[in-house]
Amino acid sequence: MNRPALFLSHGAPTLALANNFFSHSWAELGVVLGRPRAILAVSAHWDTPAPVASAAPRLATIHDFHGFPEPLYRVRYEPPGEPALADRVAALLGAAGHACTLDAARGIDHGAWVPLRWMYPDADLPVVQLSVQSGRGAHHHLEIGRALAPLRDEGVLVIGSGGIVHNLRELDWDGRADEPFAWAVAFNDWMARAAESGAVDELADYRRLAPYAERAHPTEDHLVPFFVALGAGGLPARRMALGFDMGSLGMDCYAFG
Ligand code: ZN
Repeated sequence: MNRPALFLSHGAPTLALANNFFSHSWAELGVVLGRPRAILAVSAHWDTPAPVASAAPRLATIHDFHGFPEPLYRVRYEPPGEPALADRVAALLGAAGHACTLDAARGIDHGAWVPLRWMYPDADLPVVQLSVQSGRGAHHHLEIGRALAPLRDEGVLVIGSGGIVHNLRELDWDGRADEPFAWAVAFNDWMARAAESGAVDELADYRRLAPYAERAHPTEDHLVPFFVALGAGGLPARRMALGFDMGSLGMDCYAFG
């Protein structure tokens, strides 16, 4: 079965424990998609100079955030890994000219486990993580995604996890804003229009073309997973419009292909 590739905006770590619109939307998405054979999670929170895939037989929970409520540090999401899938990922990337190494000790970071905890709460599906190279921009990640496209015919759900709008210095931490910020909406809407009209070249050039691109993404780590998912799934792009959290944290999700 040819599965779509997903881009998920994973939001704040606290969504791991929040029963709200966002977590319910992820739970519903898991039901709609059904159970893949395995998951390849490409998270903004694993950023390395060159691609690395996780190859542990079981992934330990990484609590890679600071200053959040204590119960969040007790959450465990520890799915089986799949070293053979990590080998397959490295082979596909190597054949496309992107040498990929394996890390047999790497666990699962919150960019992956926060949404997966809702989508597949039993943590019984094998997960492999693949790192991003945030300094290498959109085109590199489109290529990485295209190289991974055959996995969709092999029962693997490819998930890019980041944020469609992500600027931690411009969040409404106190919840005072009644409406999402206009600049965040403008960027979000531009991405939605470009994706839904299939303008892949424009998307890849978003930093030059989209309004408020540098404000929406001071660094590219949370958007490059979008391009991996787009490369892996191709068109059409379908958007789950989930809006914003804390004024400017974009929560939209996309299914590609
Ligand atoms: Zn994040």
